[in-house]
Amino acid sequence: MRKTADVVIIGGGCMGASVAYHFARRGLTNVVLVEREPLLATGSTGRNAGGVRHQFSHEANVRLSIESIRLFERFEEVVGTAIDFHQDGYLFLLSSEESVAEFRASVEMQRRLGVEVAWLSSEQACEIAPGLDTGGVLAATFCARDGIADPNGVTMGFARAAQSAGVEICRNTEVTGIEVRTGRATAVVTTSGRIETAVVVNAAGPWAGGVAALAGLDVPIRPLRRHIFIAQPPHLAAAHTPSSGNDGWVRTGADGSTHRVAPATRIMVIDFDTTFYFHREGANVLFGMGDPNEAFGFDTTVRWDLLPDVVEVAVRRLPVLADTAVSHAWAGLYEMTPDGMPIIGPVAALRGFFMIAGFSGHGFQHSPAAGRVLADAIVGADPKFDLSPFALERFARGPHAGEGHVV
Ligand SMILES: Cc1cc2nc3c(=O)[nH]c(=O)nc-3n(C[C@H](O)[C@H](O)[C@H](O)COP(=O)(O)OP(=O)(O)OC[C@H]3O[C@@H](n4cnc5c(N)ncnc54)[C@H](O)[C@@H]3O)c2cc1C
Repeated sequence: MRKTADVVIIGGGCMGASVAYHFARRGLTNVVLVEREPLLATGSTGRNAGGVRHQFSHEANVRLSIESIRLFERFEEVVGTAIDFHQDGYLFLLSSEESVAEFRASVEMQRRLGVEVAWLSSEQACEIAPGLDTGGVLAATFCARDGIADPNGVTMGFARAAQSAGVEICRNTEVTGIEVRTGRATAVVTTSGRIETAVVVNAAGPWAGGVAALAGLDVPIRPLRRHIFIAQPPHLAAAHTPSSGNDGWVRTGADGSTHRVAPATRIMVIDFDTTFYFHREGANVLFGMGDPNEAFGFDTTVRWDLLPDVVEVAVRRLPVLADTAVSHAWAGLYEMTPDGMPIIGPVAALRGFFMIAGFSGHGFQHSPAAGRVLADAIVGADPKFDLSPFALERFARGPHAGEGHVV
């Protein structure tokens, strides 16, 4: 491992890899990325649902999405790795007047920024997502350019491109200390040695608060467990219902007619008022839902006792799930900030220390643009992006708008 570097990046998830890539693109390759695990992308990045959407409530997040989705669309050509990006859209189902009013404001803002978002009736929602039960749904929004991509592919794509340009990636290397002299970060201490540097980038995801504390900083990022469940097609479940079609999600009626009981596409459906969401994942359906009683903590043990509550909501929206078997589940950590917005940029209290963390459960999709703007800010280029909504110092400044579409 190098003993000195222009930049040390802490964390080998999608954020750290994206920053490394964007430095390399700018010709800055005396960079070391350190990751404590044996593999990259095993933190939040390796546990996420792969969702990519324009439909946020904060303008700065929509701007991150616009830029990021442009790169996702050309990722293989530009970065060199396939990312299995399917733009089958995001469908938000809204069941309360408050949600509809809130989405009216955000759709107007999204359209002003050039994003094509449609308002749909519940009947139209069923047409694009067959199998849905839209009882109680007042309205829906749909953006066809939203979609699903492969988080591992994106991270490895960025990392490989950075590495082949000269960035050093050190796995099995934990950062245990950050040296500070006269208000400036000067070195990073790791389990594989010490690296002198003028720039430290904290890309440690849900652990970023602890990494910042190594430098004496108080950064409000808290880990919050979230689950994902995988349901197999109904014909694989024990109490199986005869089905036809090549994906197992088509049902044959007594009269021989067939109808689809789950979407054939990978459309992401979000029941906004309950936070239940699902999308097709290969032959299966991936689904999840937030638990309002979950307390902050690093535990990622799967809580199977949650499943009955999730399934109760799930079968109201996608009734076929009642006939399926949940084959497996995992839990990962959201990296929550108090306002649901990330922290990207320099830290005023410590020169040479930069944050790119706290994406509050929607960071994968923003990694391309977030890494680009941070790399520009560090090398002194104009990021052409107003970073003030992402500044750490906003929390001390008092009330400000946060992200309302954290699901
Ligand atoms: C269940 C679930 C579903 C999600 N769904 C979506 C989705 O659909 N769309 C979306 O955009 N986002 C989603 N997210 C959020 C997304 O996964 C995160 O926002 C994103 O992965 C954050 O990336 P990161 O690189 O900041 O963090 P991470 O991927 O956690 O990477 C941080 C890395 O830092 C390393 N590290 C920590 N401390 C140290 C240390 N001291 N020394 C060295 N290395 C260290 C860790 O090992 C880790 O690899 C979801 C998250 C979860 C949990």
